[in-house]
Amino acid sequence: MNNFSYTQATSAKEATGRLKDQDQAAYIAGGTTLLDLMKAGIQEHPLLVDINLLPFKGIEQTKEGLRIGAMERMNAVGEHPLVVQQFPAVSQSLLLAASPQLRNMASIGGNILQRTRCGYFRDPAFPCNKRVPGSGCPAQTGDNHNLAILGVSESCIANAYPGDLSVALSALDAVLTLENHKGKQRQVPVTEFYLLPGSTPQKENVLEPGELIVAVTIPQAAHAQRSTYLKVRERASYAYALASAAVGLDVQSGTIRSARVALGGVGAQPWRSREAERVLTGAPPTEATFRAAAKAALQDARPREHNAYKVELAQNTLVRALQQVVGA
Ligand SMILES: Cc1cc2nc3c(=O)[nH]c(=O)nc-3n(C[C@H](O)[C@H](O)[C@H](O)COP(=O)(O)OP(=O)(O)OC[C@H]3O[C@@H](n4cnc5c(N)ncnc54)[C@H](O)[C@@H]3O)c2cc1C
Ligand code: SF4
Repeated sequence: MNNFSYTQATSAKEATGRLKDQDQAAYIAGGTTLLDLMKAGIQEHPLLVDINLLPFKGIEQTKEGLRIGAMERMNAVGEHPLVVQQFPAVSQSLLLAASPQLRNMASIGGNILQRTRCGYFRDPAFPCNKRVPGSGCPAQTGDNHNLAILGVSESCIANAYPGDLSVALSALDAVLTLENHKGKQRQVPVTEFYLLPGSTPQKENVLEPGELIVAVTIPQAAHAQRSTYLKVRERASYAYALASAAVGLDVQSGTIRSARVALGGVGAQPWRSREAERVLTGAPPTEATFRAAAKAALQDARPREHNAYKVELAQNTLVRALQQVVGA
């Protein structure tokens, strides 16, 4: 691990000001993923700016929806009654993640910015286009059993975001509030926050250097209230998703009025499936409809040698999640 300086910021202005002229400096919140990456020699930061004192706190109703401060902890958000009642998929995505200890340390902002679990990325002995642009992607022909099948490229097939929360946030149209060093805020939908790898897998999201995640806002909707998050993994706890599905349905008089679908574990980014939503909307909530939606969601899958099993796994996960949400 490299030597680094540490400082604590008490305001957004101070925090962004510290990073403004320091190319390699980084914010630290819970530190549960950043310190791992530094210890493994994947990231080096001469300066860490602690943002835990920033006032990005609170879980409150606003006219745009439920606003959650970026410094709130995963457990606190997952267990909050408003989240449990209005956005069950968000609550479940948080409480099925990591371990209780990690969830008590880890912040919402840090969760959104966690990085891929691709083994080659996390081992500096290997080349990796995401870590060292242009060095190659050994995962294309190597061990790719837990990597992505949707939105991948010849440069990178990683799940750049391997976690759970952003899958539920993508499904439910959540919007991030970001703030730069001039104190200017902007809103970015979670579905537009992450970037596909293309030929530049090192660029993972639209965050500008030094920009902070301030909050996430989730709009209220009937399909959000009737939502669920289903996660399939190699063991029952403390593991990342091989495939997951966040779904929300508004069903009235035997017809699906609105549907929201996002997949985790299979996409180069949290994978919102508008194709599946189109199949579901206006149809009856039957197994045949759910199967057709799952087929549509995976129609563009590009599996490699060891991850072809994810096509069927993701389809079955989505069907099961849809059945769960209608109580079938
Ligand atoms: C063993 C293990 C298992 C895990 N399992 C899961 C799982 O199953 N599902 C899941 O979703 N996650 C899982 N995680 C990931 C975990 O959720 C993240 O480590 C955690 O959410 C990161 O939050 P943090 O506050 O500790 O971030 P930090 O480590 O402090 O920061 C992470 C990154 O975000 C940046 N950052 C943090 N906050 C902000 C902000 N507000 N604005 C701008 N930049 C910011 C930091 O500079 C850093 O680059 C696991 C982690 C571990 C170690
Ligand atoms: S899949 Fe992406 S992260 Fe993994 S080795 Fe290839 S370029 Fe690196």
